[in-house]
Amino acid sequence: MPGSKDWNYHPDLPLPDTSVFRWPPDPRHMVGWVARNWLTLSERVLMVALAVALWAFAYPSLEAAESFGLGWMAQVWLVNMAMMIVVAGGLHWFFYILKGQGKALKFDRRDQARGNALWNFRHQVRDNMFWSLGSGVLQLTAFQVLVMWGMANGYAPVISFATNPVWFILALILLPIWSAFHFYWAHRLLHVPVIYRHIHSLHHRNVNIGPWSGMSMHPVEHFLYLTTLLIHFVVPSHPIHLIFHVVYQGPGAAMTHTGYEDMLIRDKRRLALGTFYHQLHHRYYECNYGNQEMPWDRWFGTFHDGSDAATQVTRARKKKMGG
Ligand SMILES: [Zn+2]
Ligand SMILES: [Zn+2]
Repeated sequence: MPGSKDWNYHPDLPLPDTSVFRWPPDPRHMVGWVARNWLTLSERVLMVALAVALWAFAYPSLEAAESFGLGWMAQVWLVNMAMMIVVAGGLHWFFYILKGQGKALKFDRRDQARGNALWNFRHQVRDNMFWSLGSGVLQLTAFQVLVMWGMANGYAPVISFATNPVWFILALILLPIWSAFHFYWAHRLLHVPVIYRHIHSLHHRNVNIGPWSGMSMHPVEHFLYLTTLLIHFVVPSHPIHLIFHVVYQGPGAAMTHTGYEDMLIRDKRRLALGTFYHQLHHRYYECNYGNQEMPWDRWFGTFHDGSDAATQVTRARKKKMGG
């Protein structure tokens, strides 16, 4: 497995273009993309399965959501709280306490920080938990409650699998693409120097990221990041889509920030977790604002492919921006 002086592990470099928007369009690549994401036990398929189960057994019904009652809203909050603790806490426990796969596929050599005044409680993990479980889960819940209320009252268009089976499936496939589109532009805004300094730098204290870093954001960033959920007021969807979207933005962020590329089970890569793409963003800042789902970084020249040359270009850009 490749490593270098800068990284404990990195994938083969330069990073390949895995976007479904790869140009020129390549039907074989597109079919491969769908197969990889949707026809295997991928993290996306697992999230949809979780969404279906949560909708059936854990979240309140749309009838309950017709008016803003404290009972059902507290129920949504509790489910979200439990979900974040189980997913982020579970990943943290596996990788950093049990050390379930040691440093195999771990990008950064270092462990999570302690005893450093950069963090609340002088403890990176507790600091990250504070922001994730406080403002993070609260705002995730607030947006979800708002959309559920909208669906219950006819302000957000609702479909079912029985009435629109094709759109039902297509919407699941398209949601991560929408989310990537929204994330890129919200993230560009967060890197405007004055906004970066006051807001986004909180997330970026995590150069060496862990599962709890994913949703560790300034409350203003949580708000911006979660406006992606407002798409359900415009595009017809089912509560399962909304829940999938909630899982993708909340616990999903813990999965993409584990600091490991994949989870190994009996030495086989079983679950895709962090991407080196976003790890590069956390180390070099002014590059890779989006994720691999979208071609924006490549099109706008902010793509870091992991090479030394790209690091030089990124450092020059950062300097120009006053960082
Ligand atoms: Zn950033
Ligand atoms: Zn991040």
